[in-house]
Amino acid sequence: MLETAITLRNVEKYYSDFHVLKDINLTVRNGEKLVVCGPSGSGKSTMIRCINHLEEHQAGSIHVLGVELNDDVRNIARIRQSVGMVFQQFNLFPHLTVLENCTLAQTLVSRKPQDEAESVAMELLTRVRIADQARKYPGQLSGGQQQRVAIARSLSMRPKIMLFDEPTSALDPEMVKEVLEVMGELASDGMTMVCVTHEMAFARSVADRVIFMDHGRIVEENTPAEFFDHPSEPRLRDFLSQVL
Ligand code: ADP
Ligand code: MG
Repeated sequence: MLETAITLRNVEKYYSDFHVLKDINLTVRNGEKLVVCGPSGSGKSTMIRCINHLEEHQAGSIHVLGVELNDDVRNIARIRQSVGMVFQQFNLFPHLTVLENCTLAQTLVSRKPQDEAESVAMELLTRVRIADQARKYPGQLSGGQQQRVAIARSLSMRPKIMLFDEPTSALDPEMVKEVLEVMGELASDGMTMVCVTHEMAFARSVADRVIFMDHGRIVEENTPAEFFDHPSEPRLRDFLSQVL
């Protein structure tokens, strides 16, 4: 097995003439948990969206699971199946039940028979402790429940890497814990994870490494203990004083 799950080398990205990512260099090992934080607008979402090619970079290289993300659409399709993503706003299909949300990609993309897809979906819904809601529609669930369904849906494609973009930022405070618990369990199971989050207690307990972005650059990268207890960048010290 490859030791490296994700490699970004000298990555530059622009939105028209706005230079959003600047000389990003980052390696994520298999099984590693990386937390990404930084002020709003610093490029966190853009960076993780580049990892599954939801956004295109203009210079430098990105390799995911040994495959380079370039213009070859076969590469993109392969990577999308191996990289799950969970968004701040859940993005569930509102007209499908919880169960159908978790079987759709399996039957459509992986061409699994319905009963097999359902058994995988139920196993994952059980894992995120929401199997009893399988026949409901997303709109009938709380935000925390919807986000756990979104995690189960991503896992249904058996991804090797999971990307999380502020998965708890849209949740009421009492629901944050149930989602972080599920993410923590996923981490213990060995999943490779990149999480944009400002949940600093989660970062401290789950992350192997934390990076801080500001104005499109990675300006600090460290183990959680060093990152939180001995931040060297003044910008990071400012940021931590606001979120902690
Ligand atoms: P973060 O996730 O850290 O808040 P983003 O990656 O969403 O930051 O955005 C970084 C910068 O890029 C912001 O200034 C934002 O306004 C800008 N931006 C994000 N998406 C687009 C887009 N599709 N087109 C133009 N500018 C964008
Ligand atoms: Mg963002």
